[in-house]
Amino acid sequence: MQYFNSNTVLYLNGKFQKAADTAGDIYSQSLHYGYAVFEGIRAYHTHNGTRVFKIREHYERLKRSAELVHMPFPWDVNDLIKQTYKLLQINNLKNAYIRPLVYSAPNMSLVAGTKTSIMICAWEWDAYLGHEQLKVCISSYERPNPKSTPIEAKISGNYVNSIMATTEAKHSGFDEALLLDADQNIAEAPGANIFIEKNGRLYTPPLGNILAGITRATVMELCQILDIEVIEKHLTVKDLKHADSAFFCGTASEIAGIASVDDYVFPVKWTDSVGATIQRTYKCLVLEKQNYEVII
Ligand code: PMP
Repeated sequence: MQYFNSNTVLYLNGKFQKAADTAGDIYSQSLHYGYAVFEGIRAYHTHNGTRVFKIREHYERLKRSAELVHMPFPWDVNDLIKQTYKLLQINNLKNAYIRPLVYSAPNMSLVAGTKTSIMICAWEWDAYLGHEQLKVCISSYERPNPKSTPIEAKISGNYVNSIMATTEAKHSGFDEALLLDADQNIAEAPGANIFIEKNGRLYTPPLGNILAGITRATVMELCQILDIEVIEKHLTVKDLKHADSAFFCGTASEIAGIASVDDYVFPVKWTDSVGATIQRTYKCLVLEKQNYEVII
């Protein structure tokens, strides 16, 4: 996967510059200790032009993540939104994944630094988990305990846990992992939230031990419009393995159907599931085609 070429431009601390000419800070606390916060945002080519889905929510979460780890965030969200649209225009990107990253200056101590940088880059990226229903396993890794790190913040260092879980899943022949929390309840995937379907209702873990996904919140909004009941409650592996169907949701993955967890195959065909309805409705929403049909 090539993320940039010699023409790619990124945004760094108020300026647009060539990605190829941008050097990283080798002595940065971010590189050494994972002390950085980031976002993952998607832009869609819609009939109303290029539209970045829920861009304000993403930059507000970035700001909150920085605050939670005591990183200075001296930037204005409105300006970051403006610069993001400009970045897409400069790079001629219409469908894109956008990655803002707030990182710290050179500092080898373990005291929160006082100088931060913001970088925003973008590239074309297909649905992160692909378009087929996924073979998922329960990970041997747990999500980080919220008492050890602010789990509602998108902190770079937290993603070592995600890399461990996905790598383990792939090595065992699965497409993706599902992690439990420290209480052995279902938490989330390495980079997505989960919903399960039982008797026409959707269930999802409550906030507390998971990232408060913007897609998760969007799914809940869509369910309200579609009169689908959503229940936030702690779910066990047994609940999952008695469910009718299940799906992951996230900005990069969008809505991704799950075929099986370990050796349990969901009995309801994906195309007949509530998740498939949500998948279509979500696509309509991000493409601003609520009053039209889309073909998936
Ligand atoms: N959980 C984790 C651990 C994630 O990394 C992501 C992706 N940001 C999500 C859930 C989904 O969040 P969102 O819908 O805001 O992309």
